[in-house]
Amino acid sequence: MDIIINSLYSNKDIFLRELISNASDALDKIRFLALTDKEVLGEGDTAKLEIQIKLDKEKKIISICDRGIGMTKEDLIKNLGTIAKSGTSAFVEKMQTGGDLNLIGQFGVGFYSVYLVADYVEVISKHNDDKQHVWESKADGSFAISEDTWNEPLGRGTEIKLHLRDEAKEYLEEDKLKDLVKKYSEFINFPIYLWATKEVDVEVPADEDESSEEEESSKFSLYPESSEEEETEEGEEKRPKTETVKETTTEWELLNDVKAVWLRNPKEVTEEQYSKFYHSLAKDFGDDKPMCWSHFTAEGDVEFKALLFVPPKAPHDLYESYYNSNKSNLKLYVRRVFISDEFDELLPKYLSLLKGIVDSDTLPLNVSREMLQQHSSLKTTKKKLIRKALDMIRKLAEEDPDEYSNKEKTDEEKSAIEGKKGQYAKFWNEFGKSVKLGIIEDATNRNRLAKLLRFESTKSEGKLASLDEYISRMKPGKDIFYITGSSKEQLEKSPFLERLTKKNYEVIFFTDPVDEYLMQYLMDYEDKKFQNVSKEGLKLGKDSKLKDLKESFKELTDWWKKALDSENVDSVKISNRLHDTPCVVVTSKYGWSANMEKIMQSQTL
Ligand code: ADP
Ligand code: MG
Repeated sequence: MDIIINSLYSNKDIFLRELISNASDALDKIRFLALTDKEVLGEGDTAKLEIQIKLDKEKKIISICDRGIGMTKEDLIKNLGTIAKSGTSAFVEKMQTGGDLNLIGQFGVGFYSVYLVADYVEVISKHNDDKQHVWESKADGSFAISEDTWNEPLGRGTEIKLHLRDEAKEYLEEDKLKDLVKKYSEFINFPIYLWATKEVDVEVPADEDESSEEEESSKFSLYPESSEEEETEEGEEKRPKTETVKETTTEWELLNDVKAVWLRNPKEVTEEQYSKFYHSLAKDFGDDKPMCWSHFTAEGDVEFKALLFVPPKAPHDLYESYYNSNKSNLKLYVRRVFISDEFDELLPKYLSLLKGIVDSDTLPLNVSREMLQQHSSLKTTKKKLIRKALDMIRKLAEEDPDEYSNKEKTDEEKSAIEGKKGQYAKFWNEFGKSVKLGIIEDATNRNRLAKLLRFESTKSEGKLASLDEYISRMKPGKDIFYITGSSKEQLEKSPFLERLTKKNYEVIFFTDPVDEYLMQYLMDYEDKKFQNVSKEGLKLGKDSKLKDLKESFKELTDWWKKALDSENVDSVKISNRLHDTPCVVVTSKYGWSANMEKIMQSQTL
């Protein structure tokens, strides 16, 4: 707890958006249950799906209340009482190695941010399956729970009361809270209300007595409206005199615009709004904008609206948990109702880099999640989403002036792409692995994905090149040459390159362990075959002398093979692949490359 508090201290503001986000999650959950059972919503105020914020300046309390799903006693213990949740240690570890605090919401420890501003917190909660309970804790590592017999019954939902620390008094200012909601929670899909003071004009009977009138107006009215007074004085009739004064009242003020961004016309949504929506969707409140997004409507047999984002950075665990998780980052809505964010039938694993939402008009509303998972429209939805996602990434590359392109750009196009320099390299650094995993996993889109592939090569001069670029400068022939290894520096010295470089062939460097797997799936591109230059079978055009050489060295090669024993080598051959180095060991055509053997060894050790 101390680590969390200390590491977040400069960022106290975040507590509000974390609580609002929890309230919104809880409201989503009850609305989802209500799809199949209207009764769960209850009646009157209890059925109001909204978030309410109230301030008590005297007692220095902020309270945030929702009529969401609520928590049973057990939930309170499990969800709020256990600081040793798995996310806690992951978060703490990340913070100690210089992680971004703005990402706290992604670790499932957002609730604890309340202790940035409060030294004592009460959580009053009522779940349909249990009585109302109060959880309370001072940031000292212990908590208490009791059945609530003294607060007003909530009906259902959760009220969180923060008893503010002295140094957090600024959060008792309404304007401060309004700003925070605007900044971080504008796109929450439930209305957020603040119990706010408001000045209103009130007509009060004017006093005939001059002196007392002055007294009155100086007391209540900031701007006495003198013109009205004159008018009545001029009038003949003696109607009762009134005057307008300002009075303060309190009422619920709506702080956000609940029209969902994805339902709006893309032409009417600004870049900034997309950015902000991304931040709240991804719980990523860093300063960076998403790299790109795609907002579209699918029509026809299967109808849905979708908004997909490529985040500015890969999340901390994108590849760590890749093979054993099915984590989807798409939120599924059916006709504006949130259904699930753990619905993994919408995108293949390799696109779990994307964040976004899909709002289906085709899926049925009142069936269970399991039944939705089998629905026939999902296949088409998935196919369309993949297509759009890959298009979006392709565009990111096409708009980047640093990228290779056959197309000459007009001046107008050039100015439109101002500021997009280097954006694809950035994408590649963060998410290149996803593209590679896609090539491995998605045979249907393999070629599309191969277009997105970037690498360094013997001719790329420290920059990233694409396969199209490789082909554009390749000599007539059918092979794309590559070599695998653990680093570019190591590969540059490889004897396998000698002859190829001499003959001006380009060779791709693949230095990521995943590349070995990649090249087992990527056999060809645009009719060209891939050829690993460290393997047997490299052909560099006809060499008439080779046959004679083979003949005259036959005695040596035969002796050599015998000396090495057939258990160690398959064959010993004369070849023209070298230039300076006298000999090399190559892998057989269908065997593992030396690099692959190294990778396999490091995995089994
Ligand atoms: P996260 O929201 O990422 O799960 P938090 O630390 O913000 O992590 O919240 C922990 C858990 O406490 C939530 O997952 C939820 O189960 C529960 N919770 C928090 N606030 C509420 C609320 N207002 N209503 C219902 N449950 C809540
Ligand atoms: Mg949360």
